[in-house]
Amino acid sequence: MAKFSKPVEQVQYTALSPEEQEQVLLLQQAVLEEVALGQDPIRVVENICRLAEAALPNSVATCMLLNDAGDHLDVLAAPSVPAEAIARLNGLCPGPGAGSCGNAVYRQEPVYVENTFVDARWHDIRLLARDFNIGACWSMPIRSAGGRVLGSFALSSFEHRLPSSFHRKLLEIGAHLIGITLARQESDARIAFLASHDALTGLPSRALVRDRLAQAVARAQRERRGGALLFIDLDNFKLVNDSLGHHFGDLLLERIAGRLKSCVRDCDSIGRQGGDEFLMVLADVEGTEAVSVLAEKVLDSMGDPFQVEGHELTASLSMGIAVFPGDGTDPDMLIRKADAAMYHAKDAGRNTYRYFTERMNVDSAEHLALRNDLRRALEQGEFVLHYQPQLRLADGAVLGVEALIRWHHPRQGLMAPGRFIPIAEACGLIVPLGEWVLGEACRQAAAWQARGLTPLVVAVNLSPIQFRRGNLEAAVAGALSASGLEARWLELEITESVLMHDTGAMTGLIQGLKGLGVKLSIDDFGTGYSSLAYLKRLKVDKLKIDQSFVRDMESDEEDAGIVRAVIQMARGLHLATVAEGVETAGAADMLRAAGCDEVQGYHYARPLPAHDLEAWLSAR
Ligand code: C2E
Ligand code: MG
Ligand code: MG
Repeated sequence: MAKFSKPVEQVQYTALSPEEQEQVLLLQQAVLEEVALGQDPIRVVENICRLAEAALPNSVATCMLLNDAGDHLDVLAAPSVPAEAIARLNGLCPGPGAGSCGNAVYRQEPVYVENTFVDARWHDIRLLARDFNIGACWSMPIRSAGGRVLGSFALSSFEHRLPSSFHRKLLEIGAHLIGITLARQESDARIAFLASHDALTGLPSRALVRDRLAQAVARAQRERRGGALLFIDLDNFKLVNDSLGHHFGDLLLERIAGRLKSCVRDCDSIGRQGGDEFLMVLADVEGTEAVSVLAEKVLDSMGDPFQVEGHELTASLSMGIAVFPGDGTDPDMLIRKADAAMYHAKDAGRNTYRYFTERMNVDSAEHLALRNDLRRALEQGEFVLHYQPQLRLADGAVLGVEALIRWHHPRQGLMAPGRFIPIAEACGLIVPLGEWVLGEACRQAAAWQARGLTPLVVAVNLSPIQFRRGNLEAAVAGALSASGLEARWLELEITESVLMHDTGAMTGLIQGLKGLGVKLSIDDFGTGYSSLAYLKRLKVDKLKIDQSFVRDMESDEEDAGIVRAVIQMARGLHLATVAEGVETAGAADMLRAAGCDEVQGYHYARPLPAHDLEAWLSAR
């Protein structure tokens, strides 16, 4: 295909159905009411994004605004887009290869890209599409009352597809409403402030901090002094957003930004890089010792818990540090290096900082490569499930197996889920991957039954992301009907973080799943804060006591006490208990004495490939 030839739009338009017309009207009404009520414009734009997303499964909406100089776009709102992707979108220069949004602003017309992986209009940001599984993207210019293009409003789908007339209408209305929302801003000055500052925290935007970094580097070179760039990323912030909701996450971010501000001196700057990431420019610091003192101060500032709407939350952060001019003088290069160092701080166990070293350049490339491999792996059938038996303590009967995923990586060999599940979650691939796991586990369980083995319950792990995106109930029902497995032989393992915020939607979804007849267990119980009474109300069947408590039971009296207390309370509520990570006969004895129902662990069997499990079962 010739690069940058003007593609022919192949979208067919048909009349909207009465239902679709009504949906469009409702969207319009909802937003105009918010505008009339004087809602914060950013919130309004975020709501427009959410309403558009609701109209297309597996999609995310993005609103990007042109900066003052009109030379780049920054994300104004994208409530469902991972922070990492937002960081990479910020600063996008409109142009013929700059994706759908960059093109919509560049061409000043709607741009519908059916396949971002091949379309020349995505030439410059192809990697972004692949990394975040953006299959198609449709963008609509946002205009001021006077017709000037202010930015773009886009809907991205994980599948390759073109918009229906309904989606096109939604985009038009959405962009129009965003234009109105922005026009409500008292003056252009406010918009200018928004463009250079982060609306949530009031901190300078990514672009502005980058400018300040460039200035600090130039000054350091002139005056032969040094400085440092800190790339700060909150630890486990996604968990707060996923479990307590974005509203709550935003409030926490505001508080955290406040504390970070109090750490910097007048000559320093701090800004929000996007999502849960911050940049701090330290001017005029000589030597790593002085930088480390400031880095420690930043870590310490998170020491006290935060009070947010009645919840007490603790936060910690990981930091990567690049020093200038030592690590370079180009601002973008410094940001990349500090970013790479930040990942090493995460790997080192979080809540710490790391200085950039050359070795890190190699590592971050490896991480990226893994993400790209993951995409192909599903199509190539590189995943397998291993099965770990779960036994009744009283008589040693095998009641079920937990399906645990592994990846036969073509170059790196068998890989444990801890290495790739977080990456799959970050790029959205966990949804199709999770569906594959459900389908395969049900197929295997049904096959065993068909071959006359004693029926076993197969337990499947679900990621919190699967609850928020994708149609989980349909996926579970589909896996059951495709395999012919009766629902009572399937158990779904969910983590406490899914339940931390009792939204009606989550309760409804869980009830819907239970309605199918499947069993429900709470994985890694004891690491979150769910109340037992609440779990009982949700009709949860089992608690899986986290292995961190079980592992040290024999030597740690406190852990043993926790395990006994959980078992006792669960019994009072008629909830079954499973102890995970049972590695010794001693631990099994203690659990039996405490009245635990079931056990799982290396003491009995490791997770085994399907045929090895069969051998293990028949050897018993
Ligand atoms: P999990 O659900 O808590 O699974 C139990 C983990 O403990 C498994 O690790 C298992 O191999 C390990 N384990 C079992 N018995 C023992 C023991 O006696 N001692 C020790 N030290 N470890 C034991 P694995 O297979 O590496 O899986 C890690 C986590 O990855 C799982 O924790 C689960 O959260 C996640 N995971 C695995 N498969 C899937 C999947 O299909 N989908 C999703 N979303 N997550 C999965
Ligand atoms: Mg599990
Ligand atoms: Mg577990």
